[in-house]
Amino acid sequence: MRAVRMTAPGVLEQVEVPTPDAGPGEVLLRVGAVGTCHSDLHILDAPAGIFPTPITLGHEIAGTVDTVGPGVTGWSPGDRAAVYGIIGCGRCRACLRGLENQCRVVAVGGIGLSRDGGLADHVVVPASRLLHIGDLELEQAAPLTDAGLTPYHAVELARPNLRPGTSCVVIGIGGLGHMAVQILVATTAVRVIAVDTSVAALDLATRLGAHEVVQAGPETVEKIRAIVGPPPDGADVVLDFVGADPTLATARQVVATGGRVMLVGLAGGTLPVRPVAEEPPTLPMETSVEIPFWGTRAELQEVIALGRVRLLQADVQIFPLERAPEAYELLRRGEIQGRAVIVP
Ligand code: NAD
Ligand code: ZN
Ligand code: ZN
Repeated sequence: MRAVRMTAPGVLEQVEVPTPDAGPGEVLLRVGAVGTCHSDLHILDAPAGIFPTPITLGHEIAGTVDTVGPGVTGWSPGDRAAVYGIIGCGRCRACLRGLENQCRVVAVGGIGLSRDGGLADHVVVPASRLLHIGDLELEQAAPLTDAGLTPYHAVELARPNLRPGTSCVVIGIGGLGHMAVQILVATTAVRVIAVDTSVAALDLATRLGAHEVVQAGPETVEKIRAIVGPPPDGADVVLDFVGADPTLATARQVVATGGRVMLVGLAGGTLPVRPVAEEPPTLPMETSVEIPFWGTRAELQEVIALGRVRLLQADVQIFPLERAPEAYELLRRGEIQGRAVIVP
């Protein structure tokens, strides 16, 4: 079968590999659609030794069951499914509470991160990772599994602050951010302020229901403060889907006293934390900073429910498997709107 693999750090190429077999408890899925996540670029850019090579990338997967391995019940050939990408140990205190994204045994990883993913004709996954999607299109189901699930989880964590009439600043209206805007509009009564460097991304945010848009630039903080109020007031929640030094600087300067900064983007920026002994303080008092990771299976089921009633729809650009490397180059250059989805 065809597979798009990271064959060495930084090297992405399409190769022929044997079609894998479903082992005990596993299913072989015919891949229908795979979202291209910015995290894949971080994986490609990571130094040798952090991620295994060769590895088939692609951790936002939806497809059709091809064959089931020994012992699998409840799934049959032809069933359509979305894939929950995390594989926790299932036994630690976090996994037992359904928080496989906090597993204390298995380090951060999953399908397409620490074992072969979906950028291929087929992928083998544990049957326990599959969720039914009803009649949802596979191109819509795939991005829900990360671009939808990760912001949904971040919003769930921040929900105590997302009271009616509060405000949420969303920085980075790409794959995750454009889903975050819809999740906020569909599940909260907060004022949504979208921030991006790209005008096209801001236009998309407006179409999806953002109440205000701010183009990131030299005056970003002043422009956002004009909307949410100056310190000690500010945004009740900031969702940062970039996580670079400039966006973290914006986040800490516009978050309200007692607010929450949700650091989702993995660009590797630094957030200084210092109490108010000096002016200006790095963060307002009572503010919390959280680093959400992906989400839980239960949350993915809710995200799929939002997708099925069209309250959450990825804005997708479709590419065939051969053009996956090109899709990642466009993503790197900031030229993808919404999510690029590969349809093998
Ligand atoms: P993306 O490339 O689709 O979107 C990024 C958006 O940020 C783009 O619209 C871009 O124009 C905008 N942007 C870039 N620099 C900016 C700046 N300085 N100010 C304002 N906007 C800026 O990326 P994505 O796939 O949505 O992923 C976003 C980030 O989230 C990545 O770092 C990814 O690795 C990370 N991620 C984290 C998790 C997690 O569990 N924590 C899960 C998935 C993705
Ligand atoms: Zn991802
Ligand atoms: Zn565990």
